[in-house]
Amino acid sequence: MRIRCNCGGKAVVLTSEQVTDKLRQGRAECEECGQTFKFNVHFEEQIKPPRDENIVKLIDMIRALSPEQSKATLEQLKMGMAQQNRKTADSPNVPTPHGPISN
Ligand SMILES: [Zn+2]
Repeated sequence: MRIRCNCGGKAVVLTSEQVTDKLRQGRAECEECGQTFKFNVHFEEQIKPPRDENIVKLIDMIRALSPEQSKATLEQLKMGMAQQNRKTADSPNVPTPHGPISN
């Protein structure tokens, strides 16, 4: 990663540490003017959701099947997803993925 100094010169990152899961702080030295300065890099917002490893495995499994088997499996998955969507639409109080919180 390149850091620019406020003089416009290129700066070299000397140190950096992860302060929180969304913030990294560091120190850099400018190659042009010689000053050192602190910088922050922070996680702004998600652009694309993280990849679901289970879906990736499922796709690999389907690719390994014969064309007939893969078509049948996809049909079954579509039916399963349609049933799940109906269930979700029927019940307005959808529980959290982790279930109810109990203390
Ligand atoms: Zn500079």
